[in-house]
Amino acid sequence: MIGCDCEVCTSADTKDKRLRSSILVESATTSIVIDTTPDFRYQMLRANVKKLDAVLFTHPHKDHIAGLDDVRAFNYFQQKPMELYANSLTEEAIKREFAYAFSDKKYPGIPNLNLNTIDEKPFVVGDIPVTPILVWHLKMPVLGFRFGRFTYITDANRIDEEEKEKIKGSDTLVLNALRKEAHISHFTLDEAIALTKESGVADGYFTHISHQLGRHQIISAELPAGIHLAYDSLALIFE
Ligand SMILES: [Zn+2]
Ligand SMILES: [Zn+2]
Ligand SMILES: [Zn+2]
Repeated sequence: MIGCDCEVCTSADTKDKRLRSSILVESATTSIVIDTTPDFRYQMLRANVKKLDAVLFTHPHKDHIAGLDDVRAFNYFQQKPMELYANSLTEEAIKREFAYAFSDKKYPGIPNLNLNTIDEKPFVVGDIPVTPILVWHLKMPVLGFRFGRFTYITDANRIDEEEKEKIKGSDTLVLNALRKEAHISHFTLDEAIALTKESGVADGYFTHISHQLGRHQIISAELPAGIHLAYDSLALIFE
């Protein structure tokens, strides 16, 4: 956090250096990013991503959409629009906050975006089947996404019972866990642990971690078996 001298912000452990939450999902032929954070450009450079087929959006908060302009590098190399998948709430925010990309008179070099409206119904991107999961961020609907045996959910503090069913059968669940203290719109560490156990997954990874949670090494040692703190550049491979 800017200006913070806490033990996490001053830690030398690279696992305490947390950019905003996003993941890259890749198959042999298809590459998808979930959310374009304010750190999107650096995240793409760091992971040396050469090709991107689509962006899936969870919700319209700034820390999940602000980096969208930088997909224009992919437009340039791929010579086609970037396919965006978002619910109508997020779509409205994207059109408002990146209005220049949707105007009739387009300035050269601006991002070329193609919006695909999604809801809770499954869809396919390239060869990757995607099942959206509706979760709640206080009163805002947010989409989690399941890809085969892997489920990614961020920015939630409540999930309806019927949507929880969609997580079941996953091997791995990524879930947001902000800090230990209660928060109005994010799961706490204990809430995330309880939901991970309830889901019956073999492995849980926590993301969207605040500096207020504490140091990676210390908190990791407190977690039950099969539950881990995620960290930047963590890669999971599913055969
Ligand atoms: Zn701090
Ligand atoms: Zn949010
Ligand atoms: Zn967020």
